[in-house]
Amino acid sequence: MHVVATAGHVDHGKSTLVHRLTGMWPDRLAEEQRRGLTIDLGFAWTTFHGRDIAFVDVPGHERFVGNMLAGVGPVAAVMFVVAANEGWMPQSEEHFAALQALGVTHTLVVITKADLADPGPAVAQVRERFPGAPVVSATDPERVRAELVALVDALPAPDPDADVRLWVDRSFTVRGAGTVVTGTLAAGTIRVGDELECGDRRVTVRGLQSLGEDHRMVTAVARVAVNVRGVDRHEIARGDTLRTPGAWLDTSEVDVAVRAEDTLPRQLMLHIGSAGVPVHVRPLGEVGARLRLARPLPLRIGDIGVLRDPGGHRIAAGIEVLDVRPVALRRRGDARARAEQLATGRVAPPVCARTDELRAMGFPVEGNQVGEWVVDTRWWAQQREAAVGAVDQWAAEHDIAAGMPLEALRREVGLPAVELVAPLLAGSGLQIADGRVCRPGAGLPQRVDQAVRAVEERLAGEPFRALEAAELTELGLGAKELAAAVRAGRLTRVADGVVLGADVIERAAEVLAKLPQPFTVAEAKRAWNTTRRVAVPLLESLDTRRVTRRAEDGTRHLL
Ligand code: GDP
Ligand code: MG
Repeated sequence: MHVVATAGHVDHGKSTLVHRLTGMWPDRLAEEQRRGLTIDLGFAWTTFHGRDIAFVDVPGHERFVGNMLAGVGPVAAVMFVVAANEGWMPQSEEHFAALQALGVTHTLVVITKADLADPGPAVAQVRERFPGAPVVSATDPERVRAELVALVDALPAPDPDADVRLWVDRSFTVRGAGTVVTGTLAAGTIRVGDELECGDRRVTVRGLQSLGEDHRMVTAVARVAVNVRGVDRHEIARGDTLRTPGAWLDTSEVDVAVRAEDTLPRQLMLHIGSAGVPVHVRPLGEVGARLRLARPLPLRIGDIGVLRDPGGHRIAAGIEVLDVRPVALRRRGDARARAEQLATGRVAPPVCARTDELRAMGFPVEGNQVGEWVVDTRWWAQQREAAVGAVDQWAAEHDIAAGMPLEALRREVGLPAVELVAPLLAGSGLQIADGRVCRPGAGLPQRVDQAVRAVEERLAGEPFRALEAAELTELGLGAKELAAAVRAGRLTRVADGVVLGADVIERAAEVLAKLPQPFTVAEAKRAWNTTRRVAVPLLESLDTRRVTRRAEDGTRHLL
C-alpha cells in the first residue's frame, strides 16, 4: 500500500478530488459535512493499476494547520492542490513551507477548478515552486491516476523489519472491541498479538485493520487501525505513539539542526510525526538549537519536524534531530562548542553507551564493543590512564587499605556501570581482588611492616604460639593493620585476633603427618606446642581448607 497526503489552500478542491478518485468522502465529522470544510484529517482509499493508495486528506484552513501537519508528518508523498481561479494562496504557501521543512520531495500538483478560470497563471505559479514536479489538471482524472501511480512507484521501499513507531492520528472506541487507534505506519510490521509500548504502558494488539479489512499482519507503508488491549481510549490520543518495546527513548530535550529564514521566537510548536508539542527554543549558533519539549516524545537522530509559530500562523523552521541525549551546557564555552558541533550537521555518539541505547538514539552501533557496551577507543584509553592514577592516589592516601573499592573507582573515572571496571583495567597492570583494585604486591606501610616483622620473628621459633591480644596492641597492630597484613600475605588469620605466619597451614600439616591417624584436638595441640585458643580454630581452618577431615567422634585425619 501507499499513502499520499493532500495539501493546499482551503476550498481549492482537495476533498472533492479525493472523493472523485476513490468514491469515498474523506470528511467524516458531522461539523465538516455541515460546513463543507475539512477540519480534521480525512481518510479514503482506492486501487488503481494494481496499487492500493490511501489518502490522508488534510484541512486547508489556517486554523487547522496543526492537523494538517499531523497528517503529513508520517507520510512521504503529497498531492498538492491549487485552484485555477484563486491561484497560490496563503495556506498554499504555508503548506508548501511545511513540506519544504519536512523534506517531502515526492509531490504531484493537481490544478482544480479549471472550469472556472484559465489554469495558466496557477500552473506558472506552481512550476516556480515545484520545478521538477508533474502538474496535471483535475479535469483529466486518468492523467491524475497515472501520475499518482508514477508518484508512489518512485517512493523508497520501507524497511519491514524496522522498529515500529506508529504516530497515532485518531483514537476511538468500537463497541465490543475497545480502544482503536489509527495512524500511518511508515516502517516496520505490526501483527495481531504483538506487545507494543504506549507511554509507560504495555498494550497488546487484539486486531488490525487496513483499508477497512481485517488483517493478521500489516507491513509498512500502510494506513492501519489497531485495536489495542491495555489502554483506555482517553489515555491515548493524536501525537501519542505505539512502538516496539524498548526500542525508543522518550526525550524532553533535543539538539537540532535548524533551517530558518529569520531569528526564531523562543516559544514555538514542534510538529513531528502526528504530535504537536510546545517547545522552548535555545539557539546554538546560526544553524543549531536546543529544544525543550513540554512533554517527552520518542525521537531519534534523523527525525524531521517543523517549528511553527501558532500566533504568527507561519512555519518558522524545519528541524532535523541531531541528538536526543544532549550534554548539559554548564561551563563557559560549552554552548559554543556544542554550536560548532551542531553546525557540522552531526554529533558524535556518547563515549560510552549501551548497544540498545545507541540504537534507540539512532546512532549506528559500531566501534569498540565491551560486553553490552560500545565505548570510544580514545576515551577508553584515557579512562584507563585515569584509573591507574586514581588507584595510586588512593593507595597513597589509605596506607593500610587493600586497594580502592571498585565503586569508588567507577565514580572517580566516570564509568556508567561497575561491570566496565574490570574490562577497563585489563592490561593496565592493576589487579582486582575482593571488590578492590590495587597494584600487585602493594607493600604495607613501614610502621605496619616493622610490627609484622616483630611478629614474624616471634613466630619463627614457635610457629603455633600466636601472640596475645595485648602484645599485638602494644606492637600497634589493630584489626585494620592485621587485616592488611593478612591481605598482603604476610600473616594467616585463624580466628579473630589470632594470627600466625604466612606458611602456618603447611607447617601445621607437616607436624600432623607425624601423628598416628586419626588424632584428637588434644594430641594436635600437644604436637604443635600451643594452647586450645590456637589449636581449635587452627584445626577448623585446616578442615575448611580440606587439609584435615573431622569425624563424627571429633577425631581428625589428614586428607
Ligand atoms: P478543500 O477545502 O480543498 O477540501 O475543498 P473542497 O473539496 O471541500 O471543495 C471546495 C468547494 O469547491 C466545493 O464546493 C467543491 O464542490 C468545489 N469544487 C472542488 N473542485 C472543483 C472543481 O474542479 N470545479 C468546481 N467548479 N468546483 C469545485
Ligand atoms: Mg477538504
